[in-house]
Amino acid sequence: MISSNYYKLSEQYLFSRIGRIISERHGAINLSIGDVSLPLPREVSEAGARAAMELGDKSTFRGYPPECGYDFLRKAVARYYNDRGVTVDQSEVFISDGIKSDMAMFFHVFNRGKVLLPTPCYPAYIDVCAIFGFEVSFYEDAPSEEKADIIVICSPDNPTGRAKSKAELEAWVRYAKRTGAIILYDAAYEAFVQSGAPRSIYEIEGARECAVELCSFSKTAGFTGLRCGYTVVPSECGLGKVWARLKSSLSNGVSYVTQRMAECALTSALDKIRGNVKQYLDNAALFRSALSGADFVGGEDSPYIWLRVGDGKAEFYRFLDEYNLGVTPGYGFGRNGDGYVRINSFCSKENAIVAAQRLRDWVRGRG
Ligand code: PLP
Repeated sequence: MISSNYYKLSEQYLFSRIGRIISERHGAINLSIGDVSLPLPREVSEAGARAAMELGDKSTFRGYPPECGYDFLRKAVARYYNDRGVTVDQSEVFISDGIKSDMAMFFHVFNRGKVLLPTPCYPAYIDVCAIFGFEVSFYEDAPSEEKADIIVICSPDNPTGRAKSKAELEAWVRYAKRTGAIILYDAAYEAFVQSGAPRSIYEIEGARECAVELCSFSKTAGFTGLRCGYTVVPSECGLGKVWARLKSSLSNGVSYVTQRMAECALTSALDKIRGNVKQYLDNAALFRSALSGADFVGGEDSPYIWLRVGDGKAEFYRFLDEYNLGVTPGYGFGRNGDGYVRINSFCSKENAIVAAQRLRDWVRGRG
């Protein structure tokens, strides 16, 4: 029998539905689905090609990867943190095929309970809570007195593009420690932070005791198609053993080729990866300038701009029909999303220049 939780989900995942509508419009520039457009740096592709050749040779062939990841990548991830002064040991790094599946897998760790989600929020969080039968309560900015078992924090945030300040994260860590809640910290966009806001929850004192951090190569290194990420489970939070056990039952890990490519992205290709992130941030700067006079946030520490438009659904179609721009209507991000649209800056530079002019026309068209 199909779980009754399944029937709590909307018929189609928001991004798939919106993506189909936009792709049917000839000439529309898609600023909706958060998928990257820049190719992998050559070094990363070459690392993948070398790894593939190793698998074709009897002396270097490898079968199943270790469930928690190869040591070479766990070590590179730990160094990625350590180089910016954040304490993470390689034994605390668990390689995944991305945040979405690890976030879902984490809900197997806990008994049913209450989850605090941001609002508006990345729709996969809401779906995961529904699928696993967790009660959901939404928060807007700061913790309230409400008791919860799990808190999901996304910074820089999807969809609003805002990075949480150190003081905001300190308040959340204090709250989690006081109430015994665990923080699931989604750092998918950490590499976009320019303002000096924290890139990791572990920049906050005490976070190692109450927070798990999920991160991904998807948006920072162009791995949306390759699939690789990592989850940090610090020894102090006491979940490492359970997590390792769970991973070994529920996953057979990530391919050797992909992990070698991810290692390269964090080491010899790191500057190129940073260059790609900068390109997306430059696009966002163009959009921010084009939207001057409109009411928006984001785009400084994030590829996302969150634009207040009034009627989100009507404006989604107006962007598409009159300006040939695909954006994401904010109502898809839950309560507090209505009245906004999300614009992402993952397009090519050429498209960004054209899209910026269309956004300028949209601002003028509002009178
Ligand atoms: N978390 C957030 C906030 C996202 O916006 C996305 C993708 O859009 C993901 C996670 C998914 O990441 P991954 O590709 O690593 O599964």
